[in-house]
Amino acid sequence: QHYDETTLTGKTIWKFRINRLLGVGAFSKVYLATSEEEPDKKKSAIKMIGKSKMLKDPRMKSSVEREVAVLQFLQHPGIIQLEATMEIEQHMCLVLEYVDGGELFDFVQQQGMLDLAGNVDEIMVKDLFLQLATAVQWMHEQNVVHRDLKLENILLYRDNGTLKLKLSDFGLARVIDPDQPLLTTRCGSEEYVAPEIVQGLGYDGRLTDTWALGVILFSMLAGYLPFSARTGASLSQLFYQIMQACVRWPKDQVISDHAKQVVESLLQRQPDKRIALVDVPSLPWFQ
Ligand code: ADP
Ligand code: MG
Repeated sequence: QHYDETTLTGKTIWKFRINRLLGVGAFSKVYLATSEEEPDKKKSAIKMIGKSKMLKDPRMKSSVEREVAVLQFLQHPGIIQLEATMEIEQHMCLVLEYVDGGELFDFVQQQGMLDLAGNVDEIMVKDLFLQLATAVQWMHEQNVVHRDLKLENILLYRDNGTLKLKLSDFGLARVIDPDQPLLTTRCGSEEYVAPEIVQGLGYDGRLTDTWALGVILFSMLAGYLPFSARTGASLSQLFYQIMQACVRWPKDQVISDHAKQVVESLLQRQPDKRIALVDVPSLPWFQ
């Protein structure tokens, strides 16, 4: 039997009633589900990964196993929690804590970072970014690197009116040995990869995550990605931009020098020149 979007909606799997499709990733579909057992009809997000894909690509299988292991290990308010796992016929399912405010990607796209006058709300960006840097720094302290930090993999919610975020999608995460942190697998979305990954060098995942945070912060401030292969531009042109590590700030927006300084300290070409995430809160922008 084949489960797809149309056949799944409205069905019940184990104790979960599938309500609707929440998002589609590279390897998975994520559905909103409500528990029929718990009295408050608790909501969860169920990430379903097709087993046929997992069989075709052995890396896929280890990626799911890794995501489960890492999520079980990481318990932090800034990181999506894994509630259960289950297997149904052709799918492996991760039951995840449901986060209801959508992706940071859509929020930026819909100009969520702008105030009523159309200016960048630096207070909001600063607050969100500090949450992000804190969660990533904590994760690194647990010797986990994410390797796929991007606007799509950060989910938002509101807590008593304040905007909060959680890291999600740990499919490329790895546990590292802090004494021998270098990794070699080139992975992550092209727009977010650090120069040392472009060059095919061994890289420290903590420092490439730090680079990705720079890409994310730039995008929150500018409303567009710092490095992108716009239509017509080739991948090699994108990689050239990344190697230059030179960003173009918008001309029609006022962005403070202190904010730009944070981006600059993250987007350093040389990995060892990038700011340590523990030092981010001491930068002048956050004072
Ligand atoms: P992939 O590994 O295939 O990229 P993701 O884990 O990133 O899959 O999930 C794909 C999309 O599903 C996300 O970008 C997001 O929109 C949605 N999603 C994933 N997890 C949750 C969650 N816990 N709560 C709400 N939406 C989620
Ligand atoms: Mg994803």
